[in-house]
Parts: sequence; C-alpha cells; structure tokens
Amino acid sequence: MAGVHEHQDLIDPFGRHIRDLRISITDRCNFRCTYCMPEDGLEWLDRSQVMSFEEMEHLARIFVERYGVRGIRLTGGEPTVRAQLPLLVSKLAKLEHSGGPIDLSMTTNGATLRKLAVRLRNAGLKRVNISLDTLDREKFHRMTRRDELDNVLDGIAAAQEAGFDPVKINAVIERGVNDDEIVDLATFGRERNVEMRFIEFMPLDADGHWVNDTVVGQDEMVEMINAVYPIEVMPSRGAAPADRFRFLDRDESEPGGRIGIIPTVTKPFCGDCDRVRLTSDGDFRTCLFATKEFDLLTALRNGESDDQIAERIEAAVATKWAGHQINQVSFTRPAKSMSQIGG
Ligand code: SAM
Repeated sequence: MAGVHEHQDLIDPFGRHIRDLRISITDRCNFRCTYCMPEDGLEWLDRSQVMSFEEMEHLARIFVERYGVRGIRLTGGEPTVRAQLPLLVSKLAKLEHSGGPIDLSMTTNGATLRKLAVRLRNAGLKRVNISLDTLDREKFHRMTRRDELDNVLDGIAAAQEAGFDPVKINAVIERGVNDDEIVDLATFGRERNVEMRFIEFMPLDADGHWVNDTVVGQDEMVEMINAVYPIEVMPSRGAAPADRFRFLDRDESEPGGRIGIIPTVTKPFCGDCDRVRLTSDGDFRTCLFATKEFDLLTALRNGESDDQIAERIEAAVATKWAGHQINQVSFTRPAKSMSQIGG
C-alpha cells in the first residue's frame, strides 16, 4: 500500500518493543513551574543548536517508518512557544507506520490554546494533555510563577471545543504544596469531563529541592479520592504510564468518568516502558532518568545516511536499562531537568 512501510522491531535488551517517541521541540518555556524550572529560567540553547522542523521530521521518519513507532508526543519546554507549530504538526501527522497513521499528541501548559487549538487539530494533532496543578489562582501564580490560571482554564475549554477527545489534565502533586487539592482536581475532572492524571513528583526539578518526603504516592492519592468518590482500578494499562481508575458512579467511557495516576516513584512501571526521547537539541535518550545521551542531530548534520543513524539508534536502545533507580542509593539525578529533557 502506498505510503505504508514494512518495519523492523526496535527491541531493547529486556525484550521491550519501542513504540513511543517523545520529541521535545524547544527547551524554552513561558512558565517557571517550581517543580521544574528556576525562576530566572535556564540557559537556553542557541537557536542553531535546536532541531529545525525538517530535522525533526527526518529523525521521526526513521523511528516511524523503519521501526514502526506508533505514537509521537510533542513536548518541551513549552511546545506552543515554538513559532509555526501547526506546520510541524502537519509534517509529522503525515507519517505512517505499517499499521497506519501515527498517534500524534502534545503536552502543553495550555495557556495559548485558545489561539491554537483549532489550527493544531486541523493540522492533524490527535490528542492533548494540559498541565494544571491547582485551581486556586494565587497558588497557581506561586507554582508556575505566572498569573495565567484563567488562560489555562480557557485553553482547556478551547481544546474541548476544537474536538480533542479525550482531553487529559496533568497535575503534578507535591506534598505541602497542592496535595490538599487532590479531591478538588478530581471534582474538576468529573465536572468538566476531562481525564485527570495525577503525577508523582519526580527528582527532575532544576533547583533540586525534591526529596522523597515531597512525593505523594499513588496509594495515598487513591485513598483520598476514594473517600469522596469511590473508585476502582481499571484493567491493565499496557505500556501507558498511568494506572487508571474509574469512578463507580460514572460512565468510564467518558473522560470525566475515570482518572489516571502516574506512579513513577512509588510503583515504577519500567517493565512495560516502550518510550524513547529526543531532546530539542537532537539528543536521543532511552529513559527520562538516563544519564547518557546519543547525539543524533550532529550525525544528521554531518550527512550520515539513515542506515548510519539507525545504527546509532540501535546501539543506544541496546543500553536501555531495566528500570530507573530513584528509590535506591545508587540513583544519580540526570544533569538535565524535566524542561530540558521533555516530560
Ligand atoms: N510545558 C508543557 C507542560 O506544561 O505540560 C510540556 C513540558 S512539561 C516538562 C511536561 C510535564 O512534565 C508536565 O505535565 C509537567 O507538569 C511535568 N513535570 C515537570 N517537572 C516535573 C517533575 N519534577 N515531576 C513530575 N512531573 C514533572
């Protein structure tokens, strides 16, 4: 069939098939979330170091057409600060693996979605995850260092109006900061018919204040929500990072009828991980917490063939480790923060 490609599987030493690619399309962000970036920002990459749309498309094509990667998620930094984003989306949306078009999604802070949502959807973006950690305007300002709650709420509405379905909302929960709002956020998901996803705070904050006690674990979150809205676990997530639960009084086929919890710290799901990442400067990473990167952009700019780049990808995937070590003394934080890696 025209445009559809036979692929070879990209399999790591532990037998996991790589199916999902996260591309950080910029290291820059218009927010300064306390659990991610310092107030003054970070030293931004020079524009010449950042992948062009053509370079992203070229590398993404290798993953999709050669290795059958099925999903690409755009992230950052904040992906919407990249000029001409709908153009990039339209290029990537055309990629097809052997089973059909890719599942193209994006994680965003949502602040400018009112302007962009329809254009992104028309360009071929299928799904969006929007970050929202609190419903309190002052706390929002403190946590993101931006007074943008109203714009984010409007961005969520714009995403729904544009037809993104489901719209998922990411909330990073940090003890003593927003753990008092877990139930309120669950209520928000039910009322607005969006799927809330609660994320355990990970040691990827640029200013390094993470300690284990700041993590609110999945069991604790479930207990709090279940006390108000009884929930039960849904069947296995496969390779998806979130454990899903359904509200017993709601229809689970509706986004607002379920929640997800991403228990990276207390219940790592590395055994099912099918993800790899490209940073905005074209470094390939096989784990969010990897300490080693493989520079694909320089290889591409040096004129290496797709076969040569593929060799680099395979060599890198051969180093994917069984799992991260957050809970062990041997854990070493990656030198980059979440915003630089692309969450
Ligand atoms: N700017 C976009 C956004 O706000 O969603 C995309 C990039 S952001 C790095 C991707 C996701 O990572 C967001 O949901 C964010 O809340 C999450 N994140 C950032 N730092 C984190 C941390 N230390 N622990 C857990 N999640 C984190």
